[in-house]
Amino acid sequence: MSDKKSTKNGFNRRDFLKAGALSSLFAGPAILTGCGTTDGVATNGSNGSSKAKNIIFLVSDGMSTGTLSMADHMMQRQYNKESTWMKLYRENRAHRSLMDMASLDSIVTDSAAAAASWGCGNRLNNGSLNIGPNEEEFRPVLPIFRDAGKATGLVTTTEVTHATPAGFSANVPQRGMQDEIAEQYYERDFDVILGGGYRHFDPDEREDGRDLFADFEAKGYQVVRSKGQLMNYRGSDDKVLGTFYRGHVPYTTDHMSIDEYKEDIPTLAEMTEVALERLSGNDQGFLLQVEGGRVDHAAHGNDVAGLIYDQIAFDEAIAKCVAFAEERGDTLVVITTDHGNANPGLNGIGGGYRDSNDMFDRIQQFKHTNSWILSELNEDSSHSDIKDRIYYATEIDIKDKEAEALLKSLKGDYEALYRARSRPSAVISYILANYVAVNWIGSMHTSDYVELASLGPGSEYLKEKGFVKNTEMFDLMVETAGVRDYVS
Ligand SMILES: [Zn+2]
Repeated sequence: MSDKKSTKNGFNRRDFLKAGALSSLFAGPAILTGCGTTDGVATNGSNGSSKAKNIIFLVSDGMSTGTLSMADHMMQRQYNKESTWMKLYRENRAHRSLMDMASLDSIVTDSAAAAASWGCGNRLNNGSLNIGPNEEEFRPVLPIFRDAGKATGLVTTTEVTHATPAGFSANVPQRGMQDEIAEQYYERDFDVILGGGYRHFDPDEREDGRDLFADFEAKGYQVVRSKGQLMNYRGSDDKVLGTFYRGHVPYTTDHMSIDEYKEDIPTLAEMTEVALERLSGNDQGFLLQVEGGRVDHAAHGNDVAGLIYDQIAFDEAIAKCVAFAEERGDTLVVITTDHGNANPGLNGIGGGYRDSNDMFDRIQQFKHTNSWILSELNEDSSHSDIKDRIYYATEIDIKDKEAEALLKSLKGDYEALYRARSRPSAVISYILANYVAVNWIGSMHTSDYVELASLGPGSEYLKEKGFVKNTEMFDLMVETAGVRDYVS
């Protein structure tokens, strides 16, 4: 199977219109004359066009469908509230589609190729960001929207230079070139950049010693480093670079348990709200990407509390965006994930599966993630070190033989029959599964077709198609926003 290799973004407008229902969006006033909603989809009727002024693209990175289900179950059981994402489905306020996320060289994509498939409309090899297999450079959506006069923003819980935000905005052959990505952000003048990863801007941490913070400031950006500074920034027209942690922003579960984090680090919903305020000040509209980036990391780590509460934090960001969009009717909102990861699920346990609920509810007691637990354990830990630390973090009293298995794994002496499951993160997840009933098929990305929710102008295309290829999202964005002329 070969994808189109071209020095221009692959798909042209005619191909796209031929391919699907978006053509009807531009077919004339017949379907566009109504104000408010058409078939449940908001349009901005006032100017006779259903084009979206704004686009918000939300990505829960590495979210298997089980993750979406468990976050919704947990919100209902713990907070007596449905997740926004599932509520959109239940109330038929969003269209539900599936998306094929394969990359050019694998059915199982990585986050770079996945984000770039949306970002430039081409399938690329895993690991590359808007650079093709023959070194073709594809222009990503953020610069395209910027040149069309729209405001642009990236908000994430990973390092801001990580694969998903960079897939919308940067051109590098290898996703690991994060110092270079930070320089491209500086050159490309995006309006809002918020997340983790100050190490790629800080002269003491960058390999070349360049002070990118000073450079951004010299360009007129406000550079903020704490939640307090971000809140002080609110109401400003300046561009903003906010980096709130050296690496990725801490997991929500650890964030909620550590006062210093709560004080200094904004939540994804808080960052998203600030971004929406700033970007919506632009008369010509905006493109904002919001990523719950650590859902993926928790899935790789089989880290159940990390996973569920970061997905819930992502859902709170969805709520901000949906409230913004539904009030206005001129904003396309896309809510999706770039791939499955580790495919976790709540298992049926006990007679008639009647133990599953109580076991699942134990996750509500967790003060810390598995990542936090393992950060202080090593081959020299004793059984009681292991048992005490797990009890402190989870209120679960594991058995001696379970502590022994984890210790063996920490020493590198444990071999599971499926060898990839021999690592401490896998072993602790299996131990905890005896108590919380959540299990995992592995610790890597999976090939699953992914959930795709959409609402607002342009979402009719996804409704009509039902099943889409990742690259179609690029065309949907540039067509719906009317910025095709700026593609190349
Ligand atoms: Zn991943």
